[in-house]
Amino acid sequence: MKNIRNFCIIAHIDHGKSTLADRLLEFTQTVAEREMQNQLLDNMDLERERGITIKSHAIQMNYNYKGEDYVLNLIDTPGHVDFSYEVSRSIAACEGALLIVDSSQGIEAQTISNLYLAIGNDLEIIPVLNKIDLPHAMPEEVSDQIIDLIGCDREDIIHASGKAGIGIEDILNAICERIPAPKGDPAAPLQALIFDSVFNSYRGIEVYFRIFNGTLKKGEKVKFINTSKTYEADEIGVLKLNQEPRQEMAAGNVGYLISGIKNAKEVKVGDTITHVERPAAGIQGFEDVKPMVFAGIYPVETSEYEELRASMEKLQLNDASLVWEPETSAALGFGFRCGFLGMLHMEIVQERLEREFDMTVITTVPSVQFHVHTTKGALLKVSAPSEMPEPNYIDHVEEPFIKAQIISKSEFVGPIITLCMDKRGILKNQTYLTSDRVELTFEMPLAEIVFDFFDKLKTISRGYASLDYELIGFKQSNMVKLDVMLNGEPVDALSAIVHRDKAYDWGKRLCEKLRELLPRQMFEIAIQAAIGQKIIARETVKALRKNVLAKCYGGDISRKRKLLEKQKKGKKRMRQVGNVEIPQEAFLAVLKLD
Ligand code: GDP
Ligand code: MG
Repeated sequence: MKNIRNFCIIAHIDHGKSTLADRLLEFTQTVAEREMQNQLLDNMDLERERGITIKSHAIQMNYNYKGEDYVLNLIDTPGHVDFSYEVSRSIAACEGALLIVDSSQGIEAQTISNLYLAIGNDLEIIPVLNKIDLPHAMPEEVSDQIIDLIGCDREDIIHASGKAGIGIEDILNAICERIPAPKGDPAAPLQALIFDSVFNSYRGIEVYFRIFNGTLKKGEKVKFINTSKTYEADEIGVLKLNQEPRQEMAAGNVGYLISGIKNAKEVKVGDTITHVERPAAGIQGFEDVKPMVFAGIYPVETSEYEELRASMEKLQLNDASLVWEPETSAALGFGFRCGFLGMLHMEIVQERLEREFDMTVITTVPSVQFHVHTTKGALLKVSAPSEMPEPNYIDHVEEPFIKAQIISKSEFVGPIITLCMDKRGILKNQTYLTSDRVELTFEMPLAEIVFDFFDKLKTISRGYASLDYELIGFKQSNMVKLDVMLNGEPVDALSAIVHRDKAYDWGKRLCEKLRELLPRQMFEIAIQAAIGQKIIARETVKALRKNVLAKCYGGDISRKRKLLEKQKKGKKRMRQVGNVEIPQEAFLAVLKLD
C-alpha cells in the first residue's frame, strides 16, 4: 500500500487534462502505441465528438520511481461547471490532485472552484503549468497567479506540455514523491466507497470503488450498506485500458466489481461496500446533488413510456447527478420531470437517451425550482409551470439566487456588468487578480443565467470570460405564469414562469419565435400568450396552400433537402397536440428568444 498513489486531474475546461492523461498513459506504457488515440479516456462517442469530458474515468498505471514499483490510479474528470458533481466524486477517492493551468490562459473560474473542492478534501495539490509549448505562453505571469492562489513555492510548479510531451516524467515523479500513500488497514473490516457505476448489457452493472479499509476477495459475500442488498463478488479487478481481474484487492486500491446486479436501483454512488460477515460502518458518501434546471422528458411515441423509464434508470447509474420522477402533461401524456445540473447536462442526457438507448424524446421548457408560499401558509416547491397554483392562492413566490464568479480581462468589465444588470444581477465585489484580470462577483437569479447567459458572456468577452456559480438561497420575486395557447387550447408543456417585469416582452418574443418554429399546416394556427385570463401577445401561422414544399420554403433548395433528410432520419422529434404538430425546437423556443 505504501506504493499506491490515487490522484485526479483537475482544471478549467480545455486546459489540457485529457491530453496530459494520454501522455501519462503513454509514458508508463499503460497503453500500447497501436492502441493510442487522442483523449483516450474520453471513450463515449459524445465526448469524442464534442471534444469534452463528461464522465470521470479511472485507469491504473505502473511506474518505477527510484528503483521502486508504484501503482498509480488516475481519475480524469470533466471541467464544465455542469459536471462538478463528477469532480467531487473523483476527489473523494483520491489523496492528491494535479492542478492543470493553461499557461496561455491563466487561472479561470473552474480552476478555482475545482481547487477548492480538492483542498476541502485535504488533497495534496501538484500545480502544473501546461501548454508551455505555445508561443504566447506566459509562464511567469501565470506562475504568479498560481503562487497567489495556492501559496506554493515557484519551484513546486511543474512546467509541462501535454501536446509536446514536456514535463511528463517530472509529473510522474512528483506524484510518487509528493502525494501521500493511502492510509487504511487491510486487516480491518471492509469499507469500499462506490464512486461510479455503469450498465453493461452482458455483464450486468459494473461498480467502481475505492477501498478505504479491509481486503476484498473474489467470490466473497458483500453487502451494499445503503441498500442493504447482498451479492457475491463474482469478479473483481483493476481498471487498465481493459478490466484486469484480480483474486483480491486491499485497502488503498481502486477497482471494479461485477456481481450480476441487473436492477439499476440497487447501486447508489456514494454507497459503501462491506462484507456480510464482519461488516463495517458506512463511509461518509457524497453530498446530495442539487439539480439547478428542471424539464419534462417525454417519449415521442406514447407507447414507449415504460421503455423510457427503463432507459432512464440505466442512464442514472452512470450519471448519478440525474434525478427524475414521473409526471403527466395534458398536452404530452406520461413522461418524467427531470432535474439537471445545467443546460449542457440536459442536452447530454437527451443525447445519451437517444444514442445509447435508442429512445426518441421531447424535452419541454426548462425551468428552475420556485418556492411558492400559499395564502394558507403552505410551501410548494414548483419546478413545472403546470404545478403553479392559481394566483389567488399565492401569497408570494421566492426564486433561487446564485453567487456568480466571473473572471475576465479588464477591458470587458463594462459590457459584463451591463449584461448582468440586464439579468437582474447585483454587483457585489470586484477584485483585480493582476493588472488586467478581474474577478467580478454578482448575486443573480438562477433563472436568468441557466439558459443562455454563458453563451452571451462568451460572446461579449470574445471568449475571455469564465463563469462559476453556486446557489446561495431563495429570495422573494414577482413571478407570474405565462401560458401559451395554440388555437385556443392551452399547451401546458409550453408554459413558463417568468418575472412580471419581463412577462410582456417575453410573451411577445415567444409568440414570434413559435410562429417561426411551428410548421405550417392545412389550417391557420393562432398562437397566444396569456397571463391568467389576459392575452398579452398573439401571432398567426398561415395555412398551407397546395404545393407544400414549394410554398413553405420558397426556392431554397438546400433547406428543402435538409428537411427531407431530417424526415428520413427515423422518427421525427415532433408531438401532436390537439390538431397541431409541435416540433422539439418549439418546446425549447424560450432558449432562443434573442
Ligand atoms: P480538457 O478539456 O482539459 O480535457 O482539455 P483537452 O485535453 O481536451 O485539450 C483541449 C485542447 O487543448 C485540445 O485542442 C488540445 O489539443 C489542446 N492542448 C492540450 N494540451 C496542449 C498542450 O500542451 N499544448 C498545446 N499547444 N495544446 C494543447
Ligand atoms: Mg477532457
